[in-house]
Amino acid sequence: MENELYNPDCAFCGTPYCALLNQKNCSKCYMSKLDTGEQIKAGEDLFFIADALPENGVEDIMNSEDCALCRPGEDEIPGKATRYAQFDMGHIHPLVPAGEKENGKYKRAASMVIPVQLPVCDDCRKKLNLLYYLPLGLGVLTAALGLILTSLEPVRLTLTRYGRIIPFLVLLIFVCFGVIIAAIARRALRIRIERSMNTRAKRIPALAELVKRGWFPIGRKDGMISFSFTKEKLDSGILTGNNQTEPLEKIRSFGKEGVALVAENTLRKAEKQQSEE
Ligand SMILES: [Zn+2]
Repeated sequence: MENELYNPDCAFCGTPYCALLNQKNCSKCYMSKLDTGEQIKAGEDLFFIADALPENGVEDIMNSEDCALCRPGEDEIPGKATRYAQFDMGHIHPLVPAGEKENGKYKRAASMVIPVQLPVCDDCRKKLNLLYYLPLGLGVLTAALGLILTSLEPVRLTLTRYGRIIPFLVLLIFVCFGVIIAAIARRALRIRIERSMNTRAKRIPALAELVKRGWFPIGRKDGMISFSFTKEKLDSGILTGNNQTEPLEKIRSFGKEGVALVAENTLRKAEKQQSEE
């Protein structure tokens, strides 16, 4: 993101707020879809995000070479990170209660969301994928078995003798079994993998500072995180750029009150530049 002003309608183009958002271009940035009043609100919310983050944002977490999920025993070291485990963390907005009905395009209550990228090793990724897919697979397999069984002609005819609804009830029992088997398998697997890795935000050391400051993983109530894995880091989006410390420091030093001033200056500069052209 160059410090050059190229969108005369944006109150934050080329500013530290722009650097923090790290968008590929203005048309991809949500700021370009807001009017000036909403842009200022969004800028204030970037201050609230910066204020709630550790000193240098999430950069240290993202750039570590060690797996963030390994739970090594004594004399053991965490695995080498080969991928990124992506998920979102949210924070309660300091001014707007969560779920409050808001007018306009910009939803303030839901604005404090950041992507977090945890470096993970192959071993942890495989264990998590097993946890995500194996129980589900077992459940589906059980239900499918019921379906195949009850659609076999001899079985169906035998069951129908006891009542026309019986084949359907048998299938229903298989589906229930599938759900139960999936739940038991998930629980057993989770307990097993939690011996050698951390799966909950509260127990992941890299997230300790964020959790302490009120950030929580979005999506699940039990504190488990649903990750998606990527080979590369995200190349755009808030807090995905390198050298986050500088814009964060500036945004914090401007404070909430400074946001409108920065916006006013940026727009005035753009106006002047346009009239000169
Ligand atoms: Zn690991």
